[in-house]
Amino acid sequence: MWTTPQILDDSALRRCVCGLRDDYAFLTAGSIGRSRAGRPIFSLSIGHGEKSVLLCGGFHGSEWLTALLLLRFCEALCRSVQTGTPLCEVDVASYLTRREILLVPCVNPDGTEIFLHGPQAAGRYEQTVRDAWDPRTLWNANAAGVDINHNFDAGWQTLRETERESGITGPAPRRYGGETAESEPETRALCGLCRKRKPQHALAFHSQGEEIFWRYGKTAPPRAEALLHIFTSSSGYVPAENAGLYAHGGFKDWFIETFCRPAFTVEIGKGRNPLPPEDFEEIWEKLREMLTLAAVL
Ligand SMILES: [Zn+2]
Repeated sequence: MWTTPQILDDSALRRCVCGLRDDYAFLTAGSIGRSRAGRPIFSLSIGHGEKSVLLCGGFHGSEWLTALLLLRFCEALCRSVQTGTPLCEVDVASYLTRREILLVPCVNPDGTEIFLHGPQAAGRYEQTVRDAWDPRTLWNANAAGVDINHNFDAGWQTLRETERESGITGPAPRRYGGETAESEPETRALCGLCRKRKPQHALAFHSQGEEIFWRYGKTAPPRAEALLHIFTSSSGYVPAENAGLYAHGGFKDWFIETFCRPAFTVEIGKGRNPLPPEDFEEIWEKLREMLTLAAVL
């Protein structure tokens, strides 16, 4: 029986994944790899078929509500299938005979744990984290001080130069893109999954702003604009464009450039990070329909 945890640290994440797997025999739970500090990067999948869609979250330590959102959605999907009850008026089960819904709720489990419990959660990288620690900045990076969403191979060199101009030259709580593109195991794990499964489209969840980023530079793949309209009208979120330090190196950017298929960054909630857990129910209610449509379209 699902209960939403108050906080999604590593042990709660494991409990949720195992609980879902135990409750729903048709759900496949596994991992796509391990983080820097050796934590599994869990994946959940439901349905079968050539086509797949990917929803992922937890890129940034302070944004763990995104991971909770995807677990909650996974549970809603499973319950809909198990009971034959439509989800947001969509007969989810009928789609799952010809498509797979892939969820990676927490791409950066070390970052989440470091954000919630401090540098000692980084294991053998504890000193790296202590050296990079800045009490004024939320910890969003992985255990090696690399911002996973700056580590993807899309305009990475340009991003590196922009980082340097901003004084970011090494491990940091956020915005350091690493030694090379895809230097981090978390990045490689997600890229590996995409190269293998080639999802039709992908959504990456961050916080905050109630915005949806949908292009890489001026590039928008076929279907991207149509999906954007559906996502914005079902959620009330608004379309947005990246700039400056956020213009390259992100998962969405890499996915669009590599596959020429739609990818979106969805900034959940509104306020200041970390969003308070009390905001979760409202975020979920606002995004339930968009998540369902993203899974079946
Ligand atoms: Zn983020």
